[in-house]
Amino acid sequence: MLGQMMTQPLLISSLIEHADRYHGQTEIISVETDGSVTESTWSQVAVNARKLASALTKLDLEPQARIGTLAWNNRRHLEIYYGTSGAGFVCHTINPRLFPEQLTYIINHAKDRVLFFDATFIPLVAAIKEHLTEVQHFVLMGPRNDDAIAQVPGVQFYDELIETGDEQFQWPSFDENTASSLCYTSGTTGNPKGVLYSHRSTVLHSFGSNTRDVIGYSAVDVVMPVVPMFHVNAWGSPYACAMSGSRMVLPGPDLHGEALVNLIDTYGVTLAMGVPTIWQGLLAHAGKSGSKLTSLERTVIGGAACPPSMIETFRDTYGVDTVHAWGMSEMSPLGTANQPMAKHADLPIEQQHKLRESQGRPCYGVELKIVDDDGNELPRDGETQGDLLVRGYWVLDSYFELQDQNLLQDGWFATGDVATLDADGYMTIRDRSKDIIKSGGEWISSVELENIAVAHPKLATAAVIGVPHPKWDERPLLVAVKAEGQDPSEDELLSYFDGKIAKWQIPDKVVFVDALPLNATGKVLKRNLRADFSDALTG
Ligand code: AMP
Repeated sequence: MLGQMMTQPLLISSLIEHADRYHGQTEIISVETDGSVTESTWSQVAVNARKLASALTKLDLEPQARIGTLAWNNRRHLEIYYGTSGAGFVCHTINPRLFPEQLTYIINHAKDRVLFFDATFIPLVAAIKEHLTEVQHFVLMGPRNDDAIAQVPGVQFYDELIETGDEQFQWPSFDENTASSLCYTSGTTGNPKGVLYSHRSTVLHSFGSNTRDVIGYSAVDVVMPVVPMFHVNAWGSPYACAMSGSRMVLPGPDLHGEALVNLIDTYGVTLAMGVPTIWQGLLAHAGKSGSKLTSLERTVIGGAACPPSMIETFRDTYGVDTVHAWGMSEMSPLGTANQPMAKHADLPIEQQHKLRESQGRPCYGVELKIVDDDGNELPRDGETQGDLLVRGYWVLDSYFELQDQNLLQDGWFATGDVATLDADGYMTIRDRSKDIIKSGGEWISSVELENIAVAHPKLATAAVIGVPHPKWDERPLLVAVKAEGQDPSEDELLSYFDGKIAKWQIPDKVVFVDALPLNATGKVLKRNLRADFSDALTG
């Protein structure tokens, strides 16, 4: 016997319809490519999304045609999110920081038919245009622009294109499992791989992230996603904020500390999300400028391990609660978020603080387990570490158009992360499986060593890698970037680890570099460091 409830499909268009109807006057602040700020509303975004959807349907594209974007976090990008997916096309957000060859590969592999791009990327599009074999329409995200006309022959303009559309456009209804958006993973190994989200997974992910113990966006929040809209859909915030009717501040191209602090203070941002490297710049500027970040209540930090020292500074200096979260492109991205449980309220305050450092516990909709090399499940004792597997409502099943995939292990996806789980589900990422250091058969977490190192006041940043060692197979090497005007010695840095971790885990050596090599999403390219310093302990 079936339940007798309505079976309306979970469609992305329902999110913008809701925001339009119930939060229509709520502001969307957008920093444009030229640095100017525009103020719009959810209703205006909805009108333009409908016009765009209508205009796109007149372009004679096939169903689920991919529509690429090379764009910052701004108002037009938000309209494209809804206008494309809502009309049944696939919104393909592309990371503009990739090398031109990778961009060409991705755009051709996805068979993008339309490419929207911000003015920043006119030279980039001009340079790769002739290699983009599938793109039929190049559209600059803005009004008519002479630069674009000169550099990208045949270019169209967003502001003109949407005027060919009808603002009364009715969102179509279709199967909720239809593809809605596409994002390629950062590609630290091999070619980038596409993760193809569906309407259903996106709406369920919005519900999940909107629960109070995950992010829980609200209609009284002013939300600033600093995480790019080209990186796992800005963690789904453009969808989840429409569901909640939150105000949004879309920060545009300038993500330096100064610009972000100004936006927080000017627009009263209450909730901001991003990777740790972004907040390093923000905290440094806030410290210099004397801003107290008065409006800011919460930060959600993820994408890489958040150092405990950062959580502490936000808490003790600015009164800001940090939610440390973990996820990945393959998971839309949310997997876990660190929020306390009722039983923790009676613990001494230091212990409560300690508990907030890990990556947190899974939200409803995601299951986690850890396994050994043979796939046997390992205990959830907070100590045993193993390969982390996941499954859930918004976890991928297979990559987009990739041959010979045999991705899942009994229905579980192997994350490539190594973690511990405790009985309550709190997870600590110990490493990426390929980054973890194995010394004499014992694991050493590079993340743990990095957390300690970056708290040293004379360091700007640091990475720890495993390098070959004649006796122990591998030993940890600290690759350090000095803070401006500081000149720490090797001994000084190594003795800083004393008493903080087991002696045998302390790095063997320090090498100083001017900067760490980063990939397009700001993660340290440890592979490059391993290659550069492979003989640091043997040579
Ligand atoms: P991406 O798909 O580019 O978002 O990368 C996902 C990977 O980033 C995960 O598999 C982890 O290795 C890493 N990651 C994400 N969040 C965290 C976190 N809070 N702590 C440690 N690593 C993280």
